[in-house]
Amino acid sequence: MPLIKVLPVDLRNKIAAGEVVERPASVVKELIENSIDAKSTDIRVEVLSAGKRMIKVSDNGAGMEKEDALMCFERHATSKIDNENDLFNIRTMGFRGEALPSIASVSKVKLITGLKGSDSGVSMELTGGEKKEVKDSSFSGTSIEIKDLFFNTPARKKFLKTNSTELYHIIDIVTKESLSHYEIGFTLITENQETMLLPKASGFRERIMQIYGDEFLAGLIKVTAEYGGMKINAFVSSAENFRNSRTYQFIFINRRPVKDPSVSHAVYNAYEGILPKDKHPVFFLFLDIDPKKADFNVHPTKREVRFEDKEGIHRFVNVSIRDVVKEERTEYTKSFTETPDISCREHIRPVSSRDKSAYYDSPVSRLNSNISENLELIYKPSLPFIYLGDTFIAVSGKGGLTIIDHHAAHERILYEKFLKKINLDSHQLLFPQQVKLSHKEYRVILENKTLLYEFGIEADDFGHDTLIIHSLPDALDSADLRGILSDVASAISEGTHPDKSLKEALAARIACHASVRGKEILNREEFSRLIADLEKTEHPDQCPHGRPTRLFFTLDDLKKMFKRK
Ligand code: ADP
Ligand code: MG
Repeated sequence: MPLIKVLPVDLRNKIAAGEVVERPASVVKELIENSIDAKSTDIRVEVLSAGKRMIKVSDNGAGMEKEDALMCFERHATSKIDNENDLFNIRTMGFRGEALPSIASVSKVKLITGLKGSDSGVSMELTGGEKKEVKDSSFSGTSIEIKDLFFNTPARKKFLKTNSTELYHIIDIVTKESLSHYEIGFTLITENQETMLLPKASGFRERIMQIYGDEFLAGLIKVTAEYGGMKINAFVSSAENFRNSRTYQFIFINRRPVKDPSVSHAVYNAYEGILPKDKHPVFFLFLDIDPKKADFNVHPTKREVRFEDKEGIHRFVNVSIRDVVKEERTEYTKSFTETPDISCREHIRPVSSRDKSAYYDSPVSRLNSNISENLELIYKPSLPFIYLGDTFIAVSGKGGLTIIDHHAAHERILYEKFLKKINLDSHQLLFPQQVKLSHKEYRVILENKTLLYEFGIEADDFGHDTLIIHSLPDALDSADLRGILSDVASAISEGTHPDKSLKEALAARIACHASVRGKEILNREEFSRLIADLEKTEHPDQCPHGRPTRLFFTLDDLKKMFKRK
């Protein structure tokens, strides 16, 4: 029995209209979502020239009978809603009956479809929305091939970006759709090569791992909660795993990828007090709410949602994440208080239980072995300085008090070294290191290999979204390589800031990682070197992110502060 009907006019008028086909990635999104609605368990996306020449999406879903196949390219023809009630209770990805006609009107389409399990089917060709050929054929599921997108709208074609950029958008779409539909297997084939292969997974965790690798997943904590008909499944940054960009932030409402500033705010707010300025948490949020309480009929490409109870959702997301983050933090402080009694403890940063081994291996043992001489040096009157916490160093001299942010200062020094390529001292790794990235990061890094090489990082292709790192600048020794590479990849894909060149942006990101390694207490010699190196930089007063590296209080300032003046 045919399922597709053209929506009545009054219902059509209630639907948010607008252009759904902006670029090849929008076609990929609409076709994947149709395959998801058809209950497919395997979806295969093939593209040539980043989708500009060809996009083909094939599935093993319900398929269409001939009558439906003939109808599906009509405007407002859908099998997914019938009446106004349905519009406010959407349980499918599509509902407007607009995608196929919009796509068909600006391309050449070949559709082959047949009801699942039957051996009959139909094949159909259209050019610019006009049916050219309809033939009987045999097929189970659906395959739609789109060629020459925008062939008849040169103005829109002109707006397409380079193949790499358009392909990044496609990879983003496949990534998002596959994240929220872990039970479906996805394959992306670009230029006849299998580039993303995601077999069906057992849950969100496994899907995240398939895309980003174990190491990435290890930095995330799981959040699950249910309240008042709302359900959250999330993977979010643990207390020490913050990023320099918003690249890894995903919100899915009823499995639909959306942008929602209020939900994002709820997550940021859950990290209040522990999220450093300019840092961002990673989050994968899968929220399920009653479809009657969420309106997706807001934006033509459905990337926005309107909630009946916006505050309730904000609170639910915020509290669920805050609780788990807080629990993790208790562990974090516990491991600190349980550390063996050693002097100079105030110099030691608290370390989460996870990186305890690293903690015992490096800073503490280093400190222990150096302790007596360091103490002596630290308090040597010629250059008196004291640590305030693990970041600030107070020094008296030149008629006042200077407080230095050790890490900001270190970052400034390294940033200029990276930028000017002075004393980078790159070295070959004895054991080249493999780093698994997401498919997009992997492509971005390989395409910008020479740029990385300029910074002393030699990376090569190792296949399967993995790179092999042969050499590194000394400053990055033992730094988190995956973190650096994914940060560099996101800096490149974000493009440049108007006031910063790409090289400056990269140098700042890399310096930031290198200076994290510098989380150790300096002895007098190291401290003097830091001060001297900082003095030699072009902007000794500011870190690359614009934060101060040092503050100076003259005696007069102090007198004023103490109301003696
Ligand atoms: P919508 O998804 O909003 O209903 P579309 O224009 O995307 O509108 O698709 C029109 C109709 O074509 C769908 O309602 C569905 O019945 C049918 N259809 C599209 N793609 C597929 C597919 N891959 N498998 C089965 N049916 C499909
Ligand atoms: Mg659709």
